Amino acid sequence: MRNIIMAGNWKMNKDAESTLLFCKGLAEGIRDLSAGVKAIVAPPYPFLGLALEALKGSAAQVAAQNVSFNSDGAYTGEVSAPMLASLGIPYCIIGHSERRQYHGETDQTVLSRQIKLASSGITPIVCVGETLAERDAHKTAQVILTQLKGCFETITISDPQSVIIAYEPVWAIGTGRTATPEQAQEVHTLIRTWLAQRYGAAIASDLHILYGGSAKPDNIRKLLEQEDIDGALIGGASLTLEQYLPMLLTANELIKARNPK
Ligand code: PEP
Repeated sequence: MRNIIMAGNWKMNKDAESTLLFCKGLAEGIRDLSAGVKAIVAPPYPFLGLALEALKGSAAQVAAQNVSFNSDGAYTGEVSAPMLASLGIPYCIIGHSERRQYHGETDQTVLSRQIKLASSGITPIVCVGETLAERDAHKTAQVILTQLKGCFETITISDPQSVIIAYEPVWAIGTGRTATPEQAQEVHTLIRTWLAQRYGAAIASDLHILYGGSAKPDNIRKLLEQEDIDGALIGGASLTLEQYLPMLLTANELIKARNPK
């Protein structure tokens, strides 16, 4: 059974004060949200503890934006999976296109990070996505499948809730240009079909696949209405409660419509 997961990736934005203000407002704003909608915020490392504290007792969860592929030792500036686990962080984004573009992230390093997260009991949000040049060259499917094979090469999945995949077309991230619901659905189907072949139908049907790329209050409904879109990874629009809360409320309406009681 899949819920709707709405994960906000703050990237390198906000400070301590605005983190606290946002998280207090979020806790307040989601009090009546159905259990079928999961709100996740991913603040920069220094504010993870503040966010955890401010969201304690609320239904919102906290994610890190990256993790080291080493466990401990002389790796200045890095943060390990056991460190995140010791704070009680349940999720971590890995393989984001900005890390691939600016920080040398590859499918191989995503795989290594995934292994570290799994051994610390942290759920990875594994990002995949094609560039505009790759889409224009009709290589979208090939790129996505290559990324999936690389990122999951030695990964076994026995619990579909232990991994989240985010499809983020690079050309739609921070550009204001969203994939159409049909374009997104097509790639989500491709991912789910690959999951079924690799891990079996039961895992594939329960594993969450999020869409990311200029998701906003005015386009989120149609994206979430697609059969294989199980939520969103949201950058810019997750930075203000004015935009993020209405997106959560839309998800809430859709979940209620799916499970009327
Ligand atoms: C992201 O950074 O994961 C993202 C989807 O950003 P935006 O929503 O701003 O395009």
